[in-house]
Amino acid sequence: LAEARDPVCGMAVEIATARYLTEYQGETYYFCARSCQHAFEADPQKYRGVEERG
Ligand SMILES: [Zn+2]
Repeated sequence: LAEARDPVCGMAVEIATARYLTEYQGETYYFCARSCQHAFEADPQKYRGVEERG
């Protein structure tokens, strides 16, 4: 099953059943909970690119 990583808390989120998602600059981000989604939407730049290191 395809999973995405919640950029806020780092949890794996199953894409097929994700309830909290946000599109930002052409990409879709998935969250484990509304609180994580809201944290991202409040300050997307803070969380973008976390996985791009290395
Ligand atoms: Zn989360």
